[in-house]
Amino acid sequence: MDVQQDGQAAEAQADAAETNDTNEASAPQATSAPRATPATDGANGPFPTQSPLDGSALPAVTATSPSEVPALARKAREAQKAWAAKTARERASVIAPVKQRILARAEEIADLVHRECGKPVEEAALAEVLPNADLVEYWTDAIEELLEGTTVELDPLSYPGKIGRIHKAPRGLVGLVTPWNYPVAIPLRTIVPALLAGNAVLFKPSEITPRAGALVASLFEGLLPDGLLALVQGGGDVGAAVVDEADIVVFTGSVATGRRVAMRCAERLIPCSLELGGKDAAIVLADAPIERTANGIVWGAFTNAGQNCASIERVYVDRKIADKLVPRLVELTKKLEPGRDTAVLTTSRQCDIVRRHLAEAEAAGAEVLAGGAPEAGSLAFAPTVVKLDREDTPLLREETFGPILPIVLVDGAEDAITRVNASTFGLTTSVWTRRVGAAHELARRLKTGVVTINNHGFTAAVAAAPWTGTGESGYGITNSPHALGELTRPQFVLEDRNKAARELWWYPYTPVLRKIAFAMARVRGGAGLFGRIAAVFELVSALPKRLLGG
Ligand code: NAD
Repeated sequence: MDVQQDGQAAEAQADAAETNDTNEASAPQATSAPRATPATDGANGPFPTQSPLDGSALPAVTATSPSEVPALARKAREAQKAWAAKTARERASVIAPVKQRILARAEEIADLVHRECGKPVEEAALAEVLPNADLVEYWTDAIEELLEGTTVELDPLSYPGKIGRIHKAPRGLVGLVTPWNYPVAIPLRTIVPALLAGNAVLFKPSEITPRAGALVASLFEGLLPDGLLALVQGGGDVGAAVVDEADIVVFTGSVATGRRVAMRCAERLIPCSLELGGKDAAIVLADAPIERTANGIVWGAFTNAGQNCASIERVYVDRKIADKLVPRLVELTKKLEPGRDTAVLTTSRQCDIVRRHLAEAEAAGAEVLAGGAPEAGSLAFAPTVVKLDREDTPLLREETFGPILPIVLVDGAEDAITRVNASTFGLTTSVWTRRVGAAHELARRLKTGVVTINNHGFTAAVAAAPWTGTGESGYGITNSPHALGELTRPQFVLEDRNKAARELWWYPYTPVLRKIAFAMARVRGGAGLFGRIAAVFELVSALPKRLLGG
Protein backbone atom coordinates (compact mmCIF):
# COMPACT_ATOMS: atom_id res chain seq x y z
CA MET A 1 0.00 0.00 0.00
CA ASP A 2 1.29 3.43 -0.93
CA VAL A 3 0.77 5.53 2.16
CA GLN A 4 2.15 9.00 1.69
CA GLN A 5 1.18 12.50 2.58
CA ASP A 6 2.43 15.93 1.85
CA GLY A 7 4.05 16.29 5.26
CA GLN A 8 4.90 19.94 4.87
CA ALA A 9 1.32 20.90 4.03
CA ALA A 10 -0.04 19.08 7.07
CA GLU A 11 2.53 20.70 9.33
CA ALA A 12 1.72 24.13 7.95
CA GLN A 13 -1.94 23.45 8.69
CA ALA A 14 -1.15 22.41 12.24
CA ASP A 15 0.92 25.56 12.71
CA ALA A 16 -1.90 27.64 11.30
CA ALA A 17 -4.18 26.04 13.88
CA GLU A 18 -1.99 27.32 16.67
CA THR A 19 -1.28 30.76 15.32
CA ASN A 20 -4.54 31.48 13.50
CA ASP A 21 -2.31 31.92 10.49
CA THR A 22 -3.73 31.07 7.07
CA ASN A 23 -2.31 29.64 3.89
CA GLU A 24 -3.32 29.15 0.28
CA ALA A 25 -3.25 25.36 0.47
CA SER A 26 -5.99 25.21 3.08
CA ALA A 27 -8.36 27.82 1.66
CA PRO A 28 -11.82 26.24 1.72
CA GLN A 29 -14.18 26.15 -1.21
CA ALA A 30 -17.95 25.74 -0.90
CA THR A 31 -18.48 23.16 1.80
CA SER A 32 -20.14 19.84 1.11
CA ALA A 33 -19.85 18.64 4.70
CA PRO A 34 -22.92 19.03 6.92
CA ARG A 35 -22.69 22.17 8.97
CA ALA A 36 -24.76 23.09 12.00
CA THR A 37 -23.87 26.76 12.26
CA PRO A 38 -23.24 29.64 9.92
CA ALA A 39 -19.62 30.21 9.08
CA THR A 40 -17.64 32.91 7.39
CA ASP A 41 -17.78 32.35 3.66
CA GLY A 42 -14.35 32.33 2.11
CA ALA A 43 -12.51 32.32 5.46
CA ASN A 44 -9.33 30.33 5.42
CA GLY A 45 -9.35 27.30 7.61
CA PRO A 46 -6.53 25.36 9.18
CA PHE A 47 -7.91 22.09 7.88
CA PRO A 48 -5.95 19.31 6.13
CA THR A 49 -7.10 18.95 2.54
CA GLN A 50 -5.78 15.43 1.87
CA SER A 51 -6.42 12.04 3.39
CA PRO A 52 -3.44 10.75 5.40
CA LEU A 53 -4.28 7.35 3.94
CA ASP A 54 -3.54 7.95 0.29
CA GLY A 55 -3.30 11.70 -0.24
CA SER A 56 -6.72 11.83 -1.93
CA ALA A 57 -8.63 15.11 -1.65
CA LEU A 58 -10.98 15.56 1.29
CA PRO A 59 -14.16 17.66 1.03
CA ALA A 60 -13.63 21.33 1.84
CA VAL A 61 -14.75 22.70 5.19
CA THR A 62 -15.58 26.28 6.04
CA ALA A 63 -14.06 27.78 9.15
CA THR A 64 -16.00 29.66 11.79
CA SER A 65 -14.51 33.02 12.68
CA PRO A 66 -13.81 33.47 16.41
CA SER A 67 -15.88 36.66 16.19
CA GLU A 68 -18.95 34.58 15.29
CA VAL A 69 -18.75 32.49 18.46
CA PRO A 70 -20.43 34.92 20.91
CA ALA A 71 -23.59 35.15 18.79
CA LEU A 72 -23.75 31.37 18.51
CA ALA A 73 -23.31 31.13 22.27
CA ARG A 74 -26.16 33.62 22.83
CA LYS A 75 -28.43 31.64 20.53
CA ALA A 76 -27.53 28.39 22.28
CA ARG A 77 -28.26 29.93 25.68
CA GLU A 78 -31.63 31.17 24.45
CA ALA A 79 -32.53 27.70 23.14
CA GLN A 80 -31.33 26.12 26.39
CA LYS A 81 -34.02 27.83 28.49
CA ALA A 82 -36.93 25.94 26.95
CA TRP A 83 -34.83 22.77 26.61
CA ALA A 84 -34.00 22.77 30.34
CA ALA A 85 -37.70 23.24 31.15
CA LYS A 86 -38.54 19.90 29.52
CA THR A 87 -38.54 16.77 31.65
CA ALA A 88 -35.61 14.38 31.41
CA ARG A 89 -37.94 11.86 29.81
CA GLU A 90 -38.97 14.35 27.13
CA ARG A 91 -35.35 15.17 26.34
CA ALA A 92 -34.49 11.46 26.21
CA SER A 93 -37.24 10.83 23.67
CA VAL A 94 -35.89 13.65 21.48
CA ILE A 95 -32.35 12.24 21.52
CA ALA A 96 -33.13 8.50 21.40
CA PRO A 97 -33.29 8.41 17.56
CA VAL A 98 -29.59 9.29 17.42
CA LYS A 99 -28.83 5.65 18.24
CA GLN A 100 -30.62 4.42 15.15
CA ARG A 101 -29.04 7.18 13.05
CA ILE A 102 -25.56 6.09 14.13
CA LEU A 103 -26.26 2.46 13.29
CA ALA A 104 -27.92 3.28 9.96
CA ARG A 105 -24.93 5.43 8.97
CA ALA A 106 -22.35 2.91 10.24
CA GLU A 107 -20.55 2.51 6.93
CA GLU A 108 -20.54 6.23 6.19
CA ILE A 109 -19.11 7.02 9.64
CA ALA A 110 -16.45 4.30 9.43
CA ASP A 111 -15.48 5.33 5.91
CA LEU A 112 -15.15 9.01 6.80
CA VAL A 113 -13.02 8.28 9.87
CA HIS A 114 -10.94 5.87 7.77
CA ARG A 115 -10.26 8.56 5.17
CA GLU A 116 -9.91 11.56 7.44
CA CYS A 117 -7.85 9.89 10.21
CA GLY A 118 -6.28 6.95 8.42
CA LYS A 119 -7.53 4.24 10.75
CA PRO A 120 -8.58 0.82 9.41
CA VAL A 121 -12.30 0.59 8.60
CA GLU A 122 -12.70 -2.27 11.10
CA GLU A 123 -11.28 -0.12 13.88
CA ALA A 124 -13.43 2.83 12.85
CA ALA A 125 -16.57 0.68 12.96
CA LEU A 126 -15.67 -1.00 16.26
CA ALA A 127 -14.48 2.12 18.08
CA GLU A 128 -16.49 4.93 16.50
CA VAL A 129 -19.86 3.37 15.64
CA LEU A 130 -21.00 0.51 17.86
CA PRO A 131 -20.02 1.91 21.28
CA ASN A 132 -21.64 5.21 20.33
CA ALA A 133 -24.96 3.54 19.68
CA ASP A 134 -24.66 1.85 23.08
CA LEU A 135 -23.77 5.18 24.62
CA VAL A 136 -26.97 6.83 23.38
CA GLU A 137 -29.00 3.90 24.68
CA TYR A 138 -27.29 3.96 28.07
CA TRP A 139 -27.86 7.66 28.65
CA THR A 140 -31.39 7.90 27.24
CA ASP A 141 -32.43 4.91 29.39
CA ALA A 142 -30.69 6.08 32.56
CA ILE A 143 -31.06 9.86 32.52
CA GLU A 144 -34.43 10.16 34.21
CA GLU A 145 -33.30 8.17 37.23
CA LEU A 146 -29.84 9.76 37.30
CA LEU A 147 -31.29 13.29 37.37
CA GLU A 148 -33.78 12.52 40.11
CA GLY A 149 -33.44 14.82 43.07
CA THR A 150 -32.75 13.56 46.57
CA THR A 151 -34.27 14.54 49.89
CA VAL A 152 -32.03 15.71 52.72
CA GLU A 153 -33.19 14.64 56.15
CA LEU A 154 -32.90 17.53 58.63
CA ASP A 155 -32.91 16.91 62.38
CA PRO A 156 -36.40 18.03 63.54
CA LEU A 157 -35.10 19.24 66.92
CA SER A 158 -32.40 21.48 65.47
CA TYR A 159 -34.31 22.37 62.30
CA PRO A 160 -38.05 22.02 63.03
CA GLY A 161 -40.43 21.92 60.07
CA LYS A 162 -37.74 21.98 57.38
CA ILE A 163 -37.40 19.84 54.28
CA GLY A 164 -34.35 19.90 52.00
CA ARG A 165 -34.15 18.74 48.40
CA ILE A 166 -31.13 18.51 46.08
CA HIS A 167 -31.80 19.01 42.37
CA LYS A 168 -29.30 18.43 39.57
CA ALA A 169 -29.49 21.60 37.53
CA PRO A 170 -27.88 21.98 34.10
CA ARG A 171 -24.70 24.07 33.98
CA GLY A 172 -26.06 26.05 31.03
CA LEU A 173 -23.69 26.24 28.06
CA VAL A 174 -21.12 23.43 27.81
CA GLY A 175 -18.05 24.37 25.74
CA LEU A 176 -16.74 21.16 24.20
CA VAL A 177 -13.28 21.10 22.60
CA THR A 178 -12.07 17.77 21.25
CA PRO A 179 -9.02 16.09 19.63
CA TRP A 180 -8.63 14.20 16.36
CA ASN A 181 -7.83 10.66 17.43
CA TYR A 182 -11.41 9.45 18.12
CA PRO A 183 -13.28 12.25 16.35
CA VAL A 184 -16.77 10.74 16.60
CA ALA A 185 -16.69 8.86 19.89
CA ILE A 186 -15.05 11.52 22.06
CA PRO A 187 -17.49 14.35 21.23
CA LEU A 188 -20.53 12.09 21.57
CA ARG A 189 -19.45 11.00 25.05
CA THR A 190 -20.07 14.53 26.23
CA ILE A 191 -22.72 15.85 23.82
CA VAL A 192 -25.25 13.12 24.66
CA PRO A 193 -25.23 13.38 28.48
CA ALA A 194 -24.76 17.17 28.37
CA LEU A 195 -27.89 17.66 26.27
CA LEU A 196 -29.87 15.11 28.26
CA ALA A 197 -29.00 16.98 31.45
CA GLY A 198 -30.62 20.10 29.97
CA ASN A 199 -27.55 21.94 28.72
CA ALA A 200 -26.75 23.61 25.41
CA VAL A 201 -23.45 22.63 23.77
CA LEU A 202 -20.96 24.72 21.83
CA PHE A 203 -18.84 22.11 20.08
CA LYS A 204 -15.46 22.63 18.45
CA PRO A 205 -13.98 19.53 16.89
CA SER A 206 -10.28 19.25 16.08
CA GLU A 207 -9.12 21.17 13.02
CA ILE A 208 -7.49 17.90 11.90
CA THR A 209 -10.87 16.12 11.72
CA PRO A 210 -13.50 18.79 10.99
CA ARG A 211 -15.51 16.52 8.70
CA ALA A 212 -16.01 13.94 11.43
CA GLY A 213 -17.02 16.82 13.72
CA ALA A 214 -19.62 17.97 11.20
CA LEU A 215 -20.89 14.42 10.92
CA VAL A 216 -21.35 14.24 14.70
CA ALA A 217 -23.42 17.45 14.65
CA SER A 218 -25.46 16.15 11.71
CA LEU A 219 -26.59 13.16 13.80
CA PHE A 220 -28.75 15.58 15.79
CA GLU A 221 -30.06 17.63 12.88
CA GLY A 222 -33.81 18.18 12.93
CA LEU A 223 -34.16 16.75 16.44
CA LEU A 224 -33.06 19.62 18.67
CA PRO A 225 -34.29 23.19 19.11
CA ASP A 226 -32.49 25.48 16.69
CA GLY A 227 -29.04 26.51 17.95
CA LEU A 228 -29.00 24.26 21.04
CA LEU A 229 -26.04 22.29 19.67
CA ALA A 230 -23.76 24.73 17.88
CA LEU A 231 -20.86 23.45 15.78
CA VAL A 232 -17.89 25.76 15.29
CA GLN A 233 -15.00 24.81 13.04
CA GLY A 234 -11.43 26.01 13.34
CA GLY A 235 -8.20 25.87 15.27
CA GLY A 236 -6.99 27.03 18.66
CA ASP A 237 -8.32 30.56 18.25
CA VAL A 238 -11.86 29.24 17.77
CA GLY A 239 -11.34 26.84 20.71
CA ALA A 240 -10.26 29.80 22.85
CA ALA A 241 -13.39 31.70 21.80
CA VAL A 242 -15.49 28.72 22.94
CA VAL A 243 -13.73 28.72 26.32
CA ASP A 244 -14.50 32.42 26.64
CA GLU A 245 -18.26 31.84 26.23
CA ALA A 246 -18.97 28.61 28.10
CA ASP A 247 -20.32 28.01 31.60
CA ILE A 248 -18.20 24.85 31.83
CA VAL A 249 -15.50 23.60 29.47
CA VAL A 250 -15.08 19.94 28.68
CA PHE A 251 -11.69 19.60 27.03
CA THR A 252 -9.92 16.54 25.66
CA GLY A 253 -6.48 17.01 24.17
CA SER A 254 -2.83 17.58 24.96
CA VAL A 255 -1.37 18.60 28.31
CA ALA A 256 -0.05 21.89 26.93
CA THR A 257 -3.42 23.01 25.54
CA GLY A 258 -5.25 21.64 28.58
CA ARG A 259 -3.12 23.83 30.82
CA ARG A 260 -3.95 26.91 28.73
CA VAL A 261 -7.65 26.06 28.84
CA ALA A 262 -7.54 25.50 32.62
CA MET A 263 -5.81 28.84 33.15
CA ARG A 264 -8.41 30.70 31.14
CA CYS A 265 -11.20 28.88 32.99
CA ALA A 266 -9.57 29.87 36.29
CA GLU A 267 -9.56 33.50 35.16
CA ARG A 268 -13.23 33.25 34.24
CA LEU A 269 -14.00 31.28 37.43
CA ILE A 270 -15.77 28.56 35.52
CA PRO A 271 -15.23 24.83 36.01
CA CYS A 272 -13.39 22.75 33.44
CA SER A 273 -13.02 19.06 32.87
CA LEU A 274 -9.68 17.97 31.42
CA GLU A 275 -8.97 14.62 29.74
CA LEU A 276 -5.33 14.86 28.70
CA GLY A 277 -2.44 12.67 27.65
CA GLY A 278 -1.27 9.29 28.82
CA LYS A 279 1.79 7.08 29.15
CA ASP A 280 -0.04 3.89 29.90
CA ALA A 281 1.80 0.89 31.22
CA ALA A 282 1.13 -2.81 31.07
CA ILE A 283 2.52 -4.85 33.95
CA VAL A 284 3.18 -8.48 33.10
CA LEU A 285 3.63 -10.66 36.16
CA ALA A 286 5.58 -13.92 36.10
CA ASP A 287 2.47 -16.10 35.92
CA ALA A 288 0.71 -14.24 33.08
CA PRO A 289 -0.97 -16.38 30.41
CA ILE A 290 1.40 -15.87 27.48
CA GLU A 291 -0.96 -16.02 24.52
CA ARG A 292 -3.70 -13.75 25.88
CA THR A 293 -1.17 -11.33 27.32
CA ALA A 294 0.81 -11.06 24.07
CA ASN A 295 -2.32 -10.62 21.93
CA GLY A 296 -3.79 -8.06 24.35
CA ILE A 297 -0.62 -6.01 24.61
CA VAL A 298 -0.06 -5.95 20.85
CA TRP A 299 -3.61 -4.67 20.36
CA GLY A 300 -3.32 -2.20 23.25
CA ALA A 301 -0.12 -0.75 21.81
CA PHE A 302 -1.00 -0.63 18.13
CA THR A 303 -4.72 0.01 17.83
CA ASN A 304 -5.16 3.35 16.04
CA ALA A 305 -1.37 3.15 15.53
CA GLY A 306 -0.92 4.04 19.16
CA GLN A 307 -2.67 7.40 18.67
CA ASN A 308 -4.73 6.72 21.73
CA CYS A 309 -4.45 8.38 25.11
CA ALA A 310 -4.64 4.90 26.64
CA SER A 311 -2.21 3.26 24.26
CA ILE A 312 0.29 0.92 25.93
CA GLU A 313 3.50 2.95 25.83
CA ARG A 314 5.47 0.97 28.43
CA VAL A 315 5.47 -2.76 29.16
CA TYR A 316 7.07 -3.83 32.40
CA VAL A 317 7.73 -7.56 32.08
CA ASP A 318 8.83 -9.72 34.99
CA ARG A 319 12.24 -11.11 33.99
CA LYS A 320 11.05 -14.60 34.84
CA ILE A 321 8.60 -14.60 31.95
CA ALA A 322 10.53 -12.48 29.45
CA ASP A 323 12.03 -15.40 27.48
CA LYS A 324 8.55 -16.59 26.59
CA LEU A 325 6.65 -13.32 26.27
CA VAL A 326 9.04 -11.04 24.41
CA PRO A 327 9.56 -13.32 21.36
CA ARG A 328 5.78 -13.77 21.11
CA LEU A 329 5.20 -9.98 21.22
CA VAL A 330 7.76 -9.57 18.44
CA GLU A 331 6.29 -12.37 16.36
CA LEU A 332 2.74 -10.98 16.59
CA THR A 333 3.93 -7.45 15.85
CA LYS A 334 5.77 -8.51 12.71
CA LYS A 335 2.54 -9.92 11.31
CA LEU A 336 0.85 -6.49 11.36
CA GLU A 337 0.86 -4.41 8.22
CA PRO A 338 0.72 -0.62 8.57
CA GLY A 339 -2.26 0.80 6.75
CA ARG A 340 -4.08 -2.53 6.75
CA ASP A 341 -3.90 -3.70 10.40
CA THR A 342 -2.75 -0.48 11.98
CA ALA A 343 -3.71 3.09 11.17
CA VAL A 344 -1.35 5.33 9.30
CA LEU A 345 -0.35 8.27 11.44
CA THR A 346 -2.88 11.05 11.05
CA THR A 347 -0.44 13.96 10.85
CA SER A 348 3.18 14.40 9.83
CA ARG A 349 3.72 16.41 13.02
CA GLN A 350 2.75 13.34 15.06
CA CYS A 351 4.98 11.17 12.87
CA ASP A 352 7.93 13.46 13.63
CA ILE A 353 7.38 13.09 17.39
CA VAL A 354 7.31 9.30 17.11
CA ARG A 355 10.48 9.31 14.97
CA ARG A 356 12.26 11.51 17.49
CA HIS A 357 11.30 9.32 20.45
CA LEU A 358 12.51 6.22 18.64
CA ALA A 359 15.78 7.84 17.54
CA GLU A 360 16.54 9.13 21.04
CA ALA A 361 15.78 5.75 22.59
CA GLU A 362 18.09 4.06 20.10
CA ALA A 363 20.78 6.58 20.91
CA ALA A 364 20.28 5.63 24.58
CA GLY A 365 20.86 1.96 23.74
CA ALA A 366 17.38 0.67 22.91
CA GLU A 367 17.31 -2.46 20.78
CA VAL A 368 14.73 -2.47 17.94
CA LEU A 369 13.18 -5.95 17.83
CA ALA A 370 10.52 -5.26 15.17
CA GLY A 371 9.52 -2.44 12.85
CA GLY A 372 11.28 0.91 12.74
CA ALA A 373 10.68 4.38 11.34
CA PRO A 374 9.25 4.72 7.81
CA GLU A 375 11.03 6.50 4.98
CA ALA A 376 10.83 10.27 4.97
CA GLY A 377 7.41 11.64 4.00
CA SER A 378 5.53 8.39 4.78
CA LEU A 379 2.97 8.22 7.55
CA ALA A 380 2.91 4.40 7.51
CA PHE A 381 4.92 3.90 10.69
CA ALA A 382 5.39 0.16 11.15
CA PRO A 383 4.40 -1.30 14.52
CA THR A 384 7.70 -1.22 16.37
CA VAL A 385 8.94 -3.16 19.40
CA VAL A 386 11.98 -1.97 21.32
CA LYS A 387 13.71 -3.32 24.40
CA LEU A 388 15.47 -0.91 26.68
CA ASP A 389 16.85 -0.59 30.20
CA ARG A 390 16.87 3.15 30.76
CA GLU A 391 13.83 5.14 31.80
CA ASP A 392 15.44 8.53 31.14
CA THR A 393 14.46 8.79 27.50
CA PRO A 394 11.39 10.56 26.04
CA LEU A 395 10.14 7.19 24.82
CA LEU A 396 9.45 6.23 28.45
CA ARG A 397 8.78 9.67 29.90
CA GLU A 398 6.73 11.67 27.38
CA GLU A 399 3.59 10.77 25.50
CA THR A 400 4.65 9.19 22.18
CA PHE A 401 1.18 8.72 20.66
CA GLY A 402 2.48 6.34 18.05
CA PRO A 403 3.03 2.65 17.25
CA ILE A 404 5.99 1.90 19.49
CA LEU A 405 5.93 -0.77 22.17
CA PRO A 406 8.83 -0.28 24.60
CA ILE A 407 9.65 -3.30 26.78
CA VAL A 408 11.49 -2.99 30.08
CA LEU A 409 12.35 -6.05 32.14
CA VAL A 410 11.66 -5.69 35.86
CA ASP A 411 12.26 -7.59 39.09
CA GLY A 412 8.69 -8.45 40.04
CA ALA A 413 5.54 -6.51 40.90
CA GLU A 414 7.09 -4.03 43.37
CA ASP A 415 9.61 -2.85 40.82
CA ALA A 416 6.84 -2.48 38.22
CA ILE A 417 4.54 -0.50 40.54
CA THR A 418 7.33 1.91 41.42
CA ARG A 419 8.08 2.56 37.76
CA VAL A 420 4.41 2.94 36.76
CA ASN A 421 3.73 5.39 39.59
CA ALA A 422 6.85 7.43 38.79
CA SER A 423 5.19 8.79 35.64
CA THR A 424 3.72 12.29 35.55
CA PHE A 425 0.74 10.72 33.74
CA GLY A 426 -1.88 8.48 35.33
CA LEU A 427 -4.59 7.45 32.90
CA THR A 428 -4.81 3.64 32.78
CA THR A 429 -2.66 0.61 33.62
CA SER A 430 -3.20 -3.04 32.82
CA VAL A 431 -2.05 -5.95 34.94
CA TRP A 432 -1.57 -9.34 33.31
CA THR A 433 -1.58 -12.34 35.63
CA ARG A 434 -3.41 -15.53 36.54
CA ARG A 435 -3.62 -14.42 40.20
CA VAL A 436 -6.59 -12.09 39.93
CA GLY A 437 -6.85 -11.51 43.70
CA ALA A 438 -3.25 -10.28 43.81
CA ALA A 439 -3.94 -8.06 40.81
CA HIS A 440 -6.83 -6.38 42.66
CA GLU A 441 -4.48 -5.67 45.58
CA LEU A 442 -1.92 -4.27 43.19
CA ALA A 443 -4.57 -2.13 41.45
CA ARG A 444 -5.25 -0.25 44.69
CA ARG A 445 -1.61 0.84 44.78
CA LEU A 446 -1.56 2.22 41.23
CA LYS A 447 -2.19 5.94 40.89
CA THR A 448 -4.05 5.71 37.60
CA GLY A 449 -7.70 6.48 36.93
CA VAL A 450 -8.45 3.09 35.41
CA VAL A 451 -6.89 -0.33 36.01
CA THR A 452 -7.74 -3.31 33.83
CA ILE A 453 -6.82 -6.86 34.77
CA ASN A 454 -5.97 -9.06 31.79
CA ASN A 455 -7.24 -6.48 29.30
CA HIS A 456 -6.35 -2.96 28.27
CA GLY A 457 -7.87 0.40 27.46
CA PHE A 458 -11.21 -0.55 25.96
CA THR A 459 -13.31 0.70 28.88
CA ALA A 460 -13.25 4.23 27.49
CA ALA A 461 -16.00 2.90 25.23
CA VAL A 462 -18.17 1.69 28.13
CA ALA A 463 -20.70 4.41 28.88
CA ALA A 464 -21.34 3.19 32.44
CA ALA A 465 -17.66 3.16 33.48
CA PRO A 466 -15.88 6.34 34.61
CA TRP A 467 -12.93 7.29 32.42
CA THR A 468 -10.56 9.55 34.29
CA GLY A 469 -6.94 10.12 35.17
CA THR A 470 -4.50 11.59 37.64
CA GLY A 471 -1.59 14.02 37.32
CA GLU A 472 -0.93 15.27 33.80
CA SER A 473 -3.63 12.96 32.44
CA GLY A 474 -6.08 15.52 33.80
CA TYR A 475 -8.92 15.36 36.29
CA GLY A 476 -11.91 15.21 33.96
CA ILE A 477 -14.40 12.38 34.15
CA THR A 478 -16.00 11.02 31.00
CA ASN A 479 -18.81 8.45 31.01
CA SER A 480 -20.86 7.17 33.95
CA PRO A 481 -22.94 9.09 36.50
CA HIS A 482 -19.68 10.72 37.65
CA ALA A 483 -19.50 12.56 34.32
CA LEU A 484 -23.05 13.76 34.87
CA GLY A 485 -21.80 15.21 38.15
CA GLU A 486 -19.63 17.55 36.07
CA LEU A 487 -22.34 18.44 33.57
CA THR A 488 -24.81 19.44 36.28
CA ARG A 489 -24.58 21.48 39.45
CA PRO A 490 -26.28 20.52 42.69
CA GLN A 491 -28.96 23.00 43.64
CA PHE A 492 -30.22 22.76 47.20
CA VAL A 493 -33.77 23.93 47.83
CA LEU A 494 -34.99 24.27 51.40
CA GLU A 495 -38.65 24.55 52.24
CA ASP A 496 -39.55 25.78 55.73
CA ARG A 497 -42.95 24.81 57.13
CA ASN A 498 -42.15 26.18 60.58
CA LYS A 499 -44.96 28.58 61.56
CA ALA A 500 -43.13 30.06 64.58
CA ALA A 501 -42.43 33.78 64.48
CA ARG A 502 -38.69 33.24 64.94
CA GLU A 503 -35.96 30.65 64.67
CA LEU A 504 -33.84 29.99 67.71
CA TRP A 505 -30.79 31.60 66.10
CA TRP A 506 -32.52 34.76 64.82
CA TYR A 507 -32.37 38.11 66.63
CA PRO A 508 -32.48 39.21 69.40
CA TYR A 509 -29.19 37.89 70.86
CA THR A 510 -29.85 37.64 74.61
CA PRO A 511 -28.27 36.05 77.73
CA VAL A 512 -30.91 33.30 77.47
CA LEU A 513 -29.79 32.48 73.94
CA ARG A 514 -26.17 32.41 75.04
CA LYS A 515 -27.08 30.00 77.85
CA ILE A 516 -28.94 27.75 75.40
CA ALA A 517 -26.01 27.72 72.95
CA PHE A 518 -23.47 26.60 75.56
CA ALA A 519 -25.88 24.12 77.14
CA MET A 520 -26.35 22.56 73.69
CA ALA A 521 -22.59 22.23 73.30
CA ARG A 522 -22.41 20.37 76.63
CA VAL A 523 -25.37 18.12 75.76
CA ARG A 524 -23.76 17.14 72.45
CA GLY A 525 -20.56 15.94 74.11
CA GLY A 526 -18.78 18.97 75.47
CA ALA A 527 -19.17 17.72 79.04
CA GLY A 528 -19.10 14.43 80.96
CA LEU A 529 -22.21 12.50 81.94
CA PHE A 530 -23.19 14.73 84.88
CA GLY A 531 -22.43 17.89 82.92
CA ARG A 532 -24.67 16.66 80.12
CA ILE A 533 -27.53 15.88 82.51
CA ALA A 534 -27.20 19.35 84.08
CA ALA A 535 -27.20 20.92 80.61
CA VAL A 536 -30.44 19.13 79.71
CA PHE A 537 -32.10 20.74 82.75
CA GLU A 538 -30.73 24.12 81.70
CA LEU A 539 -32.22 23.70 78.27
CA VAL A 540 -35.58 22.60 79.61
CA SER A 541 -35.76 25.81 81.62
CA ALA A 542 -34.26 28.18 79.01
CA LEU A 543 -36.01 27.10 75.81
CA PRO A 544 -39.54 28.16 76.85
CA LYS A 545 -38.13 31.55 77.91
CA ARG A 546 -36.57 31.92 74.48
CA LEU A 547 -39.84 31.01 72.78
CA LEU A 548 -41.45 33.84 74.71
CA GLY A 549 -38.83 36.25 73.37
CA GLY A 550 -36.18 35.98 76.09
P1 NAD B 1 -4.48 19.48 21.10
O1 NAD B 1 -4.29 19.90 22.50
O2 NAD B 1 -3.49 19.89 20.10
O3 NAD B 1 -5.89 19.97 20.54
C1 NAD B 1 -7.11 19.62 21.18
C2 NAD B 1 -8.16 20.65 20.83
O4 NAD B 1 -7.84 21.88 21.47
C3 NAD B 1 -8.28 20.95 19.35
O5 NAD B 1 -9.65 21.02 19.01
C4 NAD B 1 -7.61 22.31 19.24
O6 NAD B 1 -8.07 23.08 18.16
C5 NAD B 1 -8.01 22.94 20.53
N1 NAD B 1 -7.21 24.08 21.00
C6 NAD B 1 -5.94 24.41 20.68
N2 NAD B 1 -5.56 25.52 21.34
C7 NAD B 1 -6.61 25.91 22.09
C8 NAD B 1 -6.84 26.97 23.02
N3 NAD B 1 -5.91 27.87 23.31
N4 NAD B 1 -8.03 27.05 23.62
C9 NAD B 1 -9.00 26.13 23.39
N5 NAD B 1 -8.84 25.11 22.51
C10 NAD B 1 -7.66 25.00 21.88
O7 NAD B 1 -4.60 17.89 21.14
P2 NAD B 1 -4.72 16.88 19.91
O8 NAD B 1 -3.39 16.74 19.27
O9 NAD B 1 -5.90 17.20 19.08
O10 NAD B 1 -5.08 15.52 20.67
C11 NAD B 1 -4.13 14.61 21.12
C12 NAD B 1 -4.04 14.63 22.63
O11 NAD B 1 -5.32 14.34 23.19
C13 NAD B 1 -3.11 13.58 23.18
O12 NAD B 1 -2.30 14.13 24.19
C14 NAD B 1 -4.04 12.54 23.75
O13 NAD B 1 -3.49 11.77 24.79
C15 NAD B 1 -5.15 13.40 24.24
N6 NAD B 1 -6.37 12.61 24.40
C16 NAD B 1 -6.80 12.34 25.67
C17 NAD B 1 -7.91 11.54 25.87
C18 NAD B 1 -8.38 11.21 27.26
O14 NAD B 1 -9.49 10.70 27.41
N7 NAD B 1 -7.61 11.46 28.31
C19 NAD B 1 -8.62 11.05 24.77
C20 NAD B 1 -8.15 11.35 23.49
C21 NAD B 1 -7.03 12.13 23.33
